[in-house]
Amino acid sequence: MKADLIKNILYAGIVGDTLGVPVEFKKRDTYYVDAMISGGTWEQDAGSWSDDTSFTLPLVESLTEKSDYEKLMQKFENYMFHNKYTPKGIAFGIGGTCAKAVRNWSTNHYSALECGDPSEYANGNGALMRLAPLAIHLQTKKNLSERLKLTKNYTSLTHRHARAIMGSYIYLEILHGLLNGKNLNDILKDLPEQLKVALQNEPDEWSEFIYYRDIFTPGFKDISRNNIKSTGYDVDTLLACVWCVLNSKSIDEAILMAVNLGEDTDTIASITGTLASCVYQTDTVNSEWVAQLQNKEPLDSIIDPFIMVETKKVGQN
Ligand SMILES: [Mg+2]
Repeated sequence: MKADLIKNILYAGIVGDTLGVPVEFKKRDTYYVDAMISGGTWEQDAGSWSDDTSFTLPLVESLTEKSDYEKLMQKFENYMFHNKYTPKGIAFGIGGTCAKAVRNWSTNHYSALECGDPSEYANGNGALMRLAPLAIHLQTKKNLSERLKLTKNYTSLTHRHARAIMGSYIYLEILHGLLNGKNLNDILKDLPEQLKVALQNEPDEWSEFIYYRDIFTPGFKDISRNNIKSTGYDVDTLLACVWCVLNSKSIDEAILMAVNLGEDTDTIASITGTLASCVYQTDTVNSEWVAQLQNKEPLDSIIDPFIMVETKKVGQN
């Protein structure tokens, strides 16, 4: 993959997160955001990115270092308890399931792959929000079963229920198709059958597909905005993100559409930004928004080495 594309994908996610922070949890249509603003839900300065980015950066670092799941949990702990990977030395906005998983590792000494909550009530979007770097890392991996296995493991660090795992499968496989030159509509047409075959020995996982099936139903794009939920439930989030991308023509337009859906604005806009930047690969996320991000030093110092590794892998720059 090309360096510029990797950078744009990661920055589109960070910008989406940041634009959504001041209006997280707000009801739809009680506000309109089209710029980096200060104050709001978390009373942060304009350009402050949140847990979505702070959980993504450790994964970027871990993939660069080729380190294991335990070391990745250590990095999550460094974020949650020691404020690493934050714009201003303060961790904020961490979801309950992610926090519980980090505590399971740190305090209860669970092994990394056992830390995620397996409950049906722990199907929030907290794994989905950090997985963009994994899609970049898996772009050259041809074997679907191997991709699914890694996706499952990286999801399970915080979310172990099969529904969250299925959400990650769908999201990562959409990104994989896009990063390998397929168009979104063709991916949506082919993916259900591919997953069904690949998961024929995993009926508990495959049975969760039904929750996400609207994404693959012809006419999903034309569902009215009123019928698109924008909560932090993994299913609502993924549907909202795909819907925003299907109904926009640029990265910025998709991100703003997502930010203005209300409720889990930062995570939905972050994932939408990632998805849109893989769909519109000749477009770039608004450079003024990127310039307004707080504390870009840790972002670039973690992302640039990752880009070095990933671009070398396929002999491209
Ligand atoms: Mg957040």
